[in-house]
Amino acid sequence: MASGNIDWIRLDKALSVEAEKGFTNLQGNQYQFNEFLCLNFGNSPPNGTPTSDRRKWQNFAAQYADYSNLSVAQRKTLISQTRQFLYELRKTLETPSEPQPPKLPKTTAITDKKASLRPISLEQSLSTLAEVGYKRAELLKRLGLYTVKDLLFYYPRDHIDYARQVTINNLVAGETVTIVGTVKRCNCFTSPKNKKLSIFELILRDHTGQIKLNRFFAGTRFTSRGWQERQKRIYPLGSTVAASGLVKQNRYGITLDNPEIEVLDSVGSSIESIKIGRVLPVYPLTEGVGADLIRKAIIVSLEAIKQLRDPLPRVLREQYGLMGLKEAISNIHFPETSELLAHARRRLVFDEFFYLQLGFLQRRQEQKQIHNSTVFTPKGRLIEQFDNILPFSLTNAQQRVINEILEDLNSVTPMNRLVQGDVGAGKTIVAVFAVLAALQSGYQAALMAPTEVLAEQHYRKLIPWFNQLYLPVELLTGSTKKAKREEIHRQLITGELPLLVGTHALIQDTVNFQKLGLVVIDEQHRFGVQQRAKLLAKGKSPHVLTMTATPIPRTLALTLHGDLDVSQIDELPPGRQAIQTTVLTGKERTQAYDLIRREVAQGRQVYIIFPMIEESEKLDVKAAVEEHKKLSDKVFPDFNIGLLHGRMSSVEKDGVLTAFRDNKYHIIVSTTVIEVGVDVPNATVMLIENAERFGLSQLHQLRGRVGRGSHKSYCLLMSSSKTPDARQRLSVLEQSQDGFFISEMDLRFRGPGTVLGTRQSGLPDFALASLIEDQEVLELARVAAEKIIAADKNLGSLPSLKKELETRYQKLMGGEILT
Ligand code: ADP
Ligand code: MG
Repeated sequence: MASGNIDWIRLDKALSVEAEKGFTNLQGNQYQFNEFLCLNFGNSPPNGTPTSDRRKWQNFAAQYADYSNLSVAQRKTLISQTRQFLYELRKTLETPSEPQPPKLPKTTAITDKKASLRPISLEQSLSTLAEVGYKRAELLKRLGLYTVKDLLFYYPRDHIDYARQVTINNLVAGETVTIVGTVKRCNCFTSPKNKKLSIFELILRDHTGQIKLNRFFAGTRFTSRGWQERQKRIYPLGSTVAASGLVKQNRYGITLDNPEIEVLDSVGSSIESIKIGRVLPVYPLTEGVGADLIRKAIIVSLEAIKQLRDPLPRVLREQYGLMGLKEAISNIHFPETSELLAHARRRLVFDEFFYLQLGFLQRRQEQKQIHNSTVFTPKGRLIEQFDNILPFSLTNAQQRVINEILEDLNSVTPMNRLVQGDVGAGKTIVAVFAVLAALQSGYQAALMAPTEVLAEQHYRKLIPWFNQLYLPVELLTGSTKKAKREEIHRQLITGELPLLVGTHALIQDTVNFQKLGLVVIDEQHRFGVQQRAKLLAKGKSPHVLTMTATPIPRTLALTLHGDLDVSQIDELPPGRQAIQTTVLTGKERTQAYDLIRREVAQGRQVYIIFPMIEESEKLDVKAAVEEHKKLSDKVFPDFNIGLLHGRMSSVEKDGVLTAFRDNKYHIIVSTTVIEVGVDVPNATVMLIENAERFGLSQLHQLRGRVGRGSHKSYCLLMSSSKTPDARQRLSVLEQSQDGFFISEMDLRFRGPGTVLGTRQSGLPDFALASLIEDQEVLELARVAAEKIIAADKNLGSLPSLKKELETRYQKLMGGEILT
């Protein structure tokens, strides 16, 4: 029987008359009162009746069948309940309802349709998909997409949340939503101003209000009458329509920006379009490849998902609450809800971290299987003597790290350890212990630093100690004279020279050791993979100690050095005072200059740093030269001011730094070439211009150039930036001297690239994972990987995981594996 044809008026009348006449089961023209009611409730309830009311509706039919057997009081109660029920139902149905959330098409539903047509395989070339074709497949190759599987693993960079359905009165500009309403008016016409533009107008209405939607179609094919009429016919008056898009406030009021519109059978019916009423994926695109092409191709490809195998063991998935791979891939593209999207993302982020960690740990296992028989004894003459001549006692952190290193060295497995320690934490001493362990066991050692200044500084520090131990040490850099260089080469081969300090000059082919057992690399992140490998190749799997003064957050450390053992010197030698740090604006410059004059008057020295202004060293140098002139001529005419920049030869640079160290300059003006490690204890002021252009970690490094002696020191950060963000960022340095905390903040403010301060930072190429937001998942992945390797280091029992690891790890590392 047809539903929805309820005659509310007759029903209402029958009920009220029966009540007026004292519940006597009146006889009407055709039926008795209770028969009439039975018939009505025997019909299906009207369209849109909520489920719970449907049940009540059917109950009423039964109750009225029994009406004649009820007492008057019971009849009275029943009728009153019926009237109440009908009144409320009618209200629900007639006030256009809060629309039901549209039923989303299941992704499987979308794909199943295609599936029946032709099966698709994971390895199938995209050019064979009808939705793509040969030409567009060529374009997709530019995105690295060749096969159906590639496409499935091509994750969207974002999603537009069309799944949020709201009423018209609740539209808020800036939100992406779906509305459902009825068509009040529809029009399609050629723009009066532009003959090639067709304007489509739709007025939609729901129970809370109405809204005008516009779509614009550029191109003559859209301005034909025929096309415009067809458009109008799609949206007949009174039909129910869903529209999705970004809510926009324009001068005519609120609207949806270029919405996706689709006609529904009725309110609450299933929405067919792939776009409307759902969370829609947005993909990284390339020229000639539109969003819809990728979406369509992915929908078709989703059918191949069934063939995917999840390489993650089920126990692991269950233990960490991870979604299965098929479900995750399906939901990362077309999530049915935002919760499912979040779950899918978590699983796939886990994968990115997990395979990287697994790769790192496996490499470490492999390294541990190398036996180089280079065992250094921790107890020996040199270390004992050095302990005695040390002018200070080691900090607990230094002692702990030294022990860790000595233990590594006392093993046939080559050491591969990174020592992290804040500026001034005393890493050099720690390295010396390692070197002495090698030397007292009859091996040679090499110490490589990224710049001549740093190499020379290490050398100068080592000389007095090595003299007391009667040990020779030499320095080899690009500027070492030929005769000296040849002498060094000779002594290395004969073994007369036990320790060589230097720059990249160390990796030249002409440098050969008799018995290189230890390689120390300072500021290791400034060397390329090749350079490190080349130095290592000069020995037989030598022990490797790397050091960095750029403390990095744990997430970064894990992703960069997950294959290394890491030691932290997390304690400064006693007596270090905090460097008083102040952010100043241009207007407060005189304060800075006053402080500089005061300090110089007391015999102290000053650094003034100018940041890289452009990507060009030339401009950079120009600025430094100009500022140097201005400062020398106008601001501090009575002071000696040195100048240091990247265009100077190393000999020139060295000359300037040596003069500064010897207190011949009051002030040194420099570009960032000054950088790490320069150690002049008499310098007490570090003034940094345009500080907002530096990363916090880099500023912290620069700040570490002062406060190295017993005098109170200052860091002045000049910044005229008015953005609150820049101020807030710089204020981190006013508040903290803790390199780890600072780098963590840097990571949050500016991302991983800045923290590392290098362009080719060696960071893996994650598609989804964020080092800032996904720390928890990274930790989880690390633990999971550790467990798996501990149980089965060659992954022999997990062949599919092993296979996946091989491809994923290479891909993440961009083919370049760090040492
Ligand atoms: P960094 O970790 O920045 O390389 P250095 O090794 O250059 O630090 O040490 C900074 C300064 O602190 C040096 O002058 C060094 O001699 C001194 N130093 C190192 N360890 C200690 C200590 N335990 N007690 C006192 N001074 C120390
Ligand atoms: Mg150092």
